[in-house]
Amino acid sequence: LLRIEDVWKSYGDEEVLRGIDLEVDRGDVEVLVGPSGSGKSTMLRCINRLTEVDSGHIYLDDLDVTAADTNPDAVRQQIGMVFQDINLFAHLTARKNVTLGLRKVRGFSKEQARQRADSELERVGLADQADSYPAQLSGGQKQRVGIARALAMDPEVMLFDEPTSALDPELSNEVLEVMQGLVAEGMTMVVVTHEMRFARGGASRITFLAEGEIVERGPPEQLFENPTHERTAQFFESIR
Ligand code: ATP
Ligand code: MG
Repeated sequence: LLRIEDVWKSYGDEEVLRGIDLEVDRGDVEVLVGPSGSGKSTMLRCINRLTEVDSGHIYLDDLDVTAADTNPDAVRQQIGMVFQDINLFAHLTARKNVTLGLRKVRGFSKEQARQRADSELERVGLADQADSYPAQLSGGQKQRVGIARALAMDPEVMLFDEPTSALDPELSNEVLEVMQGLVAEGMTMVVVTHEMRFARGGASRITFLAEGEIVERGPPEQLFENPTHERTAQFFESIR
């Protein structure tokens, strides 16, 4: 479904991604881990066309996401993204935050958008908060509105960049439960997270990235119990 081929990206003199190759099949959950600055966020941003690659290609099925004539908005409809920083519109209710894209990008009627938004809010456990403004919601609830907003576009793939790292443990759990629900539904996901319980339970594969390169990739048991590389072992030791 998602194919990353020899992707390179530099900022100035700093090579942030150095020849990344990765394939994610439909229904797979790819968890990305690695030290700070290893290029995890940059990689997600490239997949979503928020950042342009220097060379290499990223394909979603047959669509070359990285091609100059591919419309970034079309990419972002099919590849939803949830960030660490909850970026809701403060002056809009939860429901309006979700309907906005449906109206503008998908051309839904007001009524269609409302129905869709309410069903997505229900999916993330927020049916009764549709009329609340972001300031009236907890961090975990805001993050779930962000997830509902991305899901409303009916994406092929969902990207998560440390969706719980700004949250208290209790609020993190609400968000992780929603993510687990998506895993159970068979959603294709690429997730950057420090939540090793999610990685252990939810990941099809874990990719360990360091200094812009994939050091090791495999099923969770391999990376946790039996890493092939010393570097991987050290990393998992350090976050235990
Ligand atoms: P963290 O775990 O801290 O979130 P990360 O693995 O997500 O780290 P990235 O955010 O991808 O790392 O950053 C990789 C490197 O690229 C860092 O050294 C960062 O300073 C640099 N970088 C990222 N974005 C930019 C930018 N827009 N301009 C310049 N340098 C950048
Ligand atoms: Mg990051």
